[in-house]
Amino acid sequence: MLELPETNCIAEQIAGSFGKSKISSVLAAHTPHKLTWYFGNFEKYPELLIGKTIGKASGCGSMVEIYAGKSILLFSEGVGLRFHDRKEPRPERHQLLIEFDNGTALSAAVQMYGGLGCLAEGKLDNPYYKAAKEKPSPFSRGFGKSYFARLIGDPAVQKLSAKAFLATGQRIPGLGNGVLQDILFNAGIHPKKKVSTLSLAERNELYDSIRTTLHAMLKGGGRDTESDLYGIRGRYKTILSKNTAGKPCLLCGTPIKKESYLGGSIYFCPKCQPL
Ligand SMILES: [Zn+2]
Repeated sequence: MLELPETNCIAEQIAGSFGKSKISSVLAAHTPHKLTWYFGNFEKYPELLIGKTIGKASGCGSMVEIYAGKSILLFSEGVGLRFHDRKEPRPERHQLLIEFDNGTALSAAVQMYGGLGCLAEGKLDNPYYKAAKEKPSPFSRGFGKSYFARLIGDPAVQKLSAKAFLATGQRIPGLGNGVLQDILFNAGIHPKKKVSTLSLAERNELYDSIRTTLHAMLKGGGRDTESDLYGIRGRYKTILSKNTAGKPCLLCGTPIKKESYLGGSIYFCPKCQPL
């Protein structure tokens, strides 16, 4: 699933590959997929997009937002976006295929589940999109120490675990169950540790780790568990992921544990992240 580092990297690649390209054709809802939801009416996408030029693209929490004239294309986590060069065959399965007048194309294919679509600017009322637009990104200056102190000091989050605090409730849009594993490892905090039991030093460690870990992932072009616009895995080597479960911890050599918790797997080093 795409999270904050990957959506930012893909948005940059889209701006680089499609910036100023003009849309010549649009094919929506080609391959039936039960767990795809379309933003707006997909029959209107050609009308909203054909003849428009690609403008700004940005990572918006766990979503990728692309301007095409005054229309906005939006792709949620769980949607694979791919660049196709002129003459390159187009994929057989996709939920959106956009062709450009220079012969290149962008395809979007939903993996397990996901949302995608296009609406006129100002018409998008998706709650995840709104939260990501309103709240400061951990990559921005707005995500400062005092902002984080208010988030973690909220009485309503004290009973939550570190994982629930970071990855539920859209408190930090785009920070999900993937990136949080290394964030908590670097902070030395167990995913199940209650927020109320975190010392001031641990809260500071957590803030620093959110910033530095996400920056390292961004700099690496995303995590090695995810693919970019060209189908290439990110260069950021995950410390804790499906790739490293059962392997020795980088710091102490203890085998990395995997458990199911809050609707997803958690990975941790029992020694470096004591409960
Ligand atoms: Zn360890």
